[in-house]
Amino acid sequence: MIELETEVQKRRTFAIISHPDAGKTTLTEKLLLFGGAIRLAGSVKSRKAQKHAVSDWMEIEKQRGISVTSSVLQFDYNGYKVNILDTPGHQDFSEDTYRTLMAADSAVMLIDAAKGVEDQTKKLFQVCKQRGIPVFTFVNKLDRYGRNPFDLMEELEKVLGIRAYPMNWPIGIDGNYSGIYIRNQAQVELFEQAGVHGQSALPSSVGGVDDPRFKEALGEEIYHALCDDITLLDMAGDEFNIEKVGKGELTPMFFGSAMTNFGVRLFLEEFLQLAPPPVPRVSSVGVVNPSDENFSAFVFKIQANMNPAHRDRLAFIRICSGKFSRGMSVFHPHTGKSIKLAQPQQFLAQERTIIEEAYPGDIIGLFDPGVFGIGDTLCQEGSEFRFQDFPIFPPEQFARVQAKDTMKRKQFVKGMTQLTQEGAVQIFRQPDYAVESFVVGVVGSLQFEVLEYRLKHEYGVDIVMNRLPYTLARWLMCENCEDIDLKLKSMKNMDNGMLVQDVKDRPVALISNEWQLRWVEERNPGIEFLVVPQDA
Ligand code: GDP
Repeated sequence: MIELETEVQKRRTFAIISHPDAGKTTLTEKLLLFGGAIRLAGSVKSRKAQKHAVSDWMEIEKQRGISVTSSVLQFDYNGYKVNILDTPGHQDFSEDTYRTLMAADSAVMLIDAAKGVEDQTKKLFQVCKQRGIPVFTFVNKLDRYGRNPFDLMEELEKVLGIRAYPMNWPIGIDGNYSGIYIRNQAQVELFEQAGVHGQSALPSSVGGVDDPRFKEALGEEIYHALCDDITLLDMAGDEFNIEKVGKGELTPMFFGSAMTNFGVRLFLEEFLQLAPPPVPRVSSVGVVNPSDENFSAFVFKIQANMNPAHRDRLAFIRICSGKFSRGMSVFHPHTGKSIKLAQPQQFLAQERTIIEEAYPGDIIGLFDPGVFGIGDTLCQEGSEFRFQDFPIFPPEQFARVQAKDTMKRKQFVKGMTQLTQEGAVQIFRQPDYAVESFVVGVVGSLQFEVLEYRLKHEYGVDIVMNRLPYTLARWLMCENCEDIDLKLKSMKNMDNGMLVQDVKDRPVALISNEWQLRWVEERNPGIEFLVVPQDA
């Protein structure tokens, strides 16, 4: 019991959310280096380089007979066990990216100092917000021109609706920075000076930013600008409040540079102290605490093997309570069966290892004979409960899909149904459409390619796919309608949209863009347009 509690308290499981090119790969690599998990810088990079194009990726999957994409990187640091969840971005941005956040206890939001909050970050942040998990902000690329830090704070508040507490502050004027001031240590850290190796740290002798030593080191102008900024932050800024951080209402904000390794260690150490250990999870029988001795976990990602000769899949589970040991049997409530977990895998940087034991917060990959679905619960034999269902993540791309050969109808429907259950795509039906077809919704276009590939190789069905010109799905609600079907049939201004039903027969409108959506909303008072279904 004490051992379990100790292991739980050591763990920090988080995901890095960012827009492509903000520096996630570089930051991850630096974090791993601190943990001694990789010997050579560049290892994470090479993993990324392997994922150039979809075709390459599938080729690699084929050659290796197993997925090359790892899902979690674990390392030790200062007595902590750190689990960094990999959030696929770039061309493989998909529902998996969102789902990964379901397995995280906190998130690190990485922002390019010159670009601020970008599109993909916004989407990922919304998922963190819905879950109410703490978000820590790292503003990257401080070594080169960056925006005014007050502007960035304001942008976080305006665009994301979260207030920021700067833990450190860039030193310099007009986006030209020479280092950071660490507020809680009253310490100045300067970038490497020309010809001098390493970074120089200068603690205050008087315990505040107005230390004459800083004036000497920084020069009059920069020193005064820094003092003004810090005074303003102290007086007008938010107070640091760990409870607000815990609820995702306040984000501790760090400035640094992953590439030049500036401010990264400081960030890591503060983050590990402030970020929560594995948190309790809600289930059908109430809250499940991580230190509960009964084992429980849920599946948050399924990775199909692209090699037709090896149909097995990997199911990634996040442990929520109890201790996992290799070979243990667990109960799978969705099938009502016991399953022996014989070959659990864990990922340390690039290496896969068979693991003997694991604790709450840890992620393991299991060979899946095809029984697991996204969101499934695994629990101790003898108990039976389910964790809350995963939310629906709003799809952004749509296509009509049908079998090329109508004789293959049965396999087509079977394949579509199974792949939907597995969470590879979302499907919708158009009630009056004559031909057997589905409207498929995805978050990223890689999902379309995977769908096509898997239907062909696993179900022997070639498909015809026609992209549809929509980017938004809205679940329709009508509180006071006597006959919702009638009301929906007579919806105005839907000529450029499409009415469909989701797998639970709930009405959904597919609409081309935000502008069109506003137009339709205005013309149809009484109908609510929800980003996700209310009962989801
Ligand atoms: P990802 O797409 O978010 O994984 O971003 P990468 O880690 O691949 O970084 C994108 C680009 O930004 C690369 O060229 C990096 O070398 C560069 N980069 C990352 N961190 C920094 C930084 O702190 N300063 C500067 N100047 N460039 C950086």
